[in-house]
Amino acid sequence: MPIIGDNMVSVKRKNRSAALRLLQEEGSMSRKRLAEKLGLTPAAITKIAGEMLSEGLLREGDALPSGSAGRREILMELNPHSFCALGVLINLRQAILTALWLDSTVIFSEEISIPLSAPADETTEMLADRLLALITQHNLPQEKVIGLGIAVRGICSADGRTVIDSFGAFSEKRYPLCRRMEELTGYPAVMANNVRALFAAQMFLSHDPSVGAQFFLRCEYGIGASLSVNGQIWHGVSEQCAEIGHIPVIPRGGKPCSCGKSGCLQTISSPMAICEDARTAFSEEKTPLLWSRWKDRDLSALQPEDVLEAARNGDLGSCQIIDRAVNALASALKSVIYLFDPGKIILYGRLFENPYYLSRLLSEMREGVDTRHEVQIEKSAYNQQLEKRAAGLLAVDSFFRNGGEPLPGSN
Ligand SMILES: [Zn+2]
Repeated sequence: MPIIGDNMVSVKRKNRSAALRLLQEEGSMSRKRLAEKLGLTPAAITKIAGEMLSEGLLREGDALPSGSAGRREILMELNPHSFCALGVLINLRQAILTALWLDSTVIFSEEISIPLSAPADETTEMLADRLLALITQHNLPQEKVIGLGIAVRGICSADGRTVIDSFGAFSEKRYPLCRRMEELTGYPAVMANNVRALFAAQMFLSHDPSVGAQFFLRCEYGIGASLSVNGQIWHGVSEQCAEIGHIPVIPRGGKPCSCGKSGCLQTISSPMAICEDARTAFSEEKTPLLWSRWKDRDLSALQPEDVLEAARNGDLGSCQIIDRAVNALASALKSVIYLFDPGKIILYGRLFENPYYLSRLLSEMREGVDTRHEVQIEKSAYNQQLEKRAAGLLAVDSFFRNGGEPLPGSN
């Protein structure tokens, strides 16, 4: 670990960052309370609070009742509408363009379709043009925008500037998405993998003070995950922590996966895989219940909930598909419990809204895990609500981390 010191500028930035974080997490408080909580002198707090008040980042609120000294203390709070952040979230075939205030209130959000594996320049230009149009449409003053957060599927470079592999969102690999977005929009940008961005948003909003490890599992088109240790997301040596969806579960075989291998966990357990397997098995003999309901319908419209409903009612083929999907995912998560001993596993995705699926998964996960592990396994309190906020919150988080200074961008 490098041994480096702090100069006065970085100390001040760190103190401003800590004050912003505290006010964001705990709401308004007096200067005196802020100083006590941060372990700083009242003089230091008066100085940084004065600066941030004049910048508009903070505002004064109500006065506390007079204390014994007879001096009324004025509460200070974050001024959430002082600045806003832009966000671009890129999934497969879909992107979400957003703007939000510092408290994560959404100013605008628009979901748009993007072509599969198209040239990255074309997709990026289309997204940037539309984002700039939305900014104009919503009259967002340029000076209020702190920057742009980009959440993108696949593997990003360690410096957060390049998409190493978008697993099919763009046709090319090693695309400098962050720089291109900065050039096209004129705003400084920060970038992260989409699942990490969702997890960071979950942590930002939940204010969960728990230390130790937390594991965030997202199950949508594919299966992704992210691991935090003491509140910090662990990236891994090759920026691939925690690609749980690509654990090989079928040795030397299985269906091809978007990562280029075959037999990965997500080819069995993802919602998409459940539907694919049901379509393959679909017949009067193998899936009689599904057959009776879908024989005259377009099978491409089949949803995982339809397969789950058939399995819940005893449809043999559907039961086998769901058993296999649940067992493989539970097995991978049990490995996570034994490897990382997390305090919490957070489940995120549409499948977890299905009570039958969730109870099946939780009961399978309890099998073979000893009671000494104190892991809480729970559906995210923000399930399916983070997509509109995750990318923008990357920029807000970076802004707070930087003590309320503009994002550095490429310069
Ligand atoms: Zn894979």
